[in-house]
Amino acid sequence: MFEVHAYAATDATKPLAPFKISRRDVGAHDVHIEILYSGVCHSDLHQAKGDWGNSTFPMVPGHEIVGRVKAVGSAVKKLKVGDYAGVGCMVDSCRECESCKKDLEQYCLVHTSFTYNGTEQDKTTPTQGGYSTDIVVEERFVVKISKKLDLKATAPLLCAGITTYSPLRHWKVGKGQKVGIIGLGGLGHMGVKFAKAMGAHVTMITTSEAKGADAKRLGADAVLVSKDADAMAKEAASFDFLLNTIPVSHDVAPYVALLKLDGTMVLVGALTPIDAFAGGSLMLPRRTIAGSAIGGMAETQEMMDFCAKHNIVSDIEMVDMASINETYERLVKNDVRYRFVIDMATMPKG
Ligand code: NAP
Ligand code: ZN
Ligand code: ZN
Repeated sequence: MFEVHAYAATDATKPLAPFKISRRDVGAHDVHIEILYSGVCHSDLHQAKGDWGNSTFPMVPGHEIVGRVKAVGSAVKKLKVGDYAGVGCMVDSCRECESCKKDLEQYCLVHTSFTYNGTEQDKTTPTQGGYSTDIVVEERFVVKISKKLDLKATAPLLCAGITTYSPLRHWKVGKGQKVGIIGLGGLGHMGVKFAKAMGAHVTMITTSEAKGADAKRLGADAVLVSKDADAMAKEAASFDFLLNTIPVSHDVAPYVALLKLDGTMVLVGALTPIDAFAGGSLMLPRRTIAGSAIGGMAETQEMMDFCAKHNIVSDIEMVDMASINETYERLVKNDVRYRFVIDMATMPKG
């Protein structure tokens, strides 16, 4: 075991503060990553503030982790010292169940070890995330990152990226389809980039009219302001696919109305209850509401390679570790363009 500097929430009401955690020694299958950058996901804030009722403290958030490989175990094949590597929302799973065998470790039927606010496979040892200087993770849960990409701007790919890439792939989004991405934040801006790169016609559906120009710059073909009832009515029953990234409970009915026959809306944002809506709105015309969580490790590597091929990274604003509490306040105020990334060189080491 070795000690590393980190930033932790010690309970849901206190600001995050400097903290020290232990990382395990590098085992045969492990990769030791020196963390250079860590993205700030809205889920970090939800969990640090106890919004989902499942928070355990002390908690070091952070599941958009990128850095340089510092050491590898003797059995590691995929990575070598000096490579750029990333860790997302999971650090382990049972590896033997039906889901794990299908490379869908996030849906492990036994126990997914989430990167923080979770436990290792012993279901006891707490996991601690990326707001720290180093992490040791089993090779299967580490992806290799191309040196062609700007490393700091790849951090958000590890959660915001894969969470949008995976449902777009699963529902086979592509050319000839009209796709709407709902909510232009961390997830949404990656959703626009991916849906566009996959060949779809992309509409950014936003509450913030002022983000329209950005949406176009990010690749959207059209912008639909969800607060404009007339504009929403004009687009009724016209979308093949909607990706809903809204982070809070909300009324889904106005979005369901946008789906055409056999259209699907995938929820990836709100984990909390959604407002009641009429069953009939799904029946006529045969619509589907579905959900999706991050993506498996093989697919996360596929997404990383897709990003290298298409030169896709996130639009980021760098922040210092010590400013994390103000950063969270800005996230709550929807003042993010479009992902905050912590420069781990700013970690206080007093
Ligand atoms: P974010 O950066 O805060 O973006 C969310 C966007 O949603 C905002 O920028 C805003 O866009 C829109 N929005 C916010 N409040 C809204 C409201 N009350 N009504 C309508 N639209 C609203 O958040 P994020 O990091 O992208 O995360 C989004 C959600 O996904 C979070 O709840 C997070 O926990 C969840 N998440 C889920 C997974 C998964 O595996 N399923 C993975 C990662 C994150 P506009 O200004 O354009 O309207
Ligand atoms: Zn996340
Ligand atoms: Zn499993």
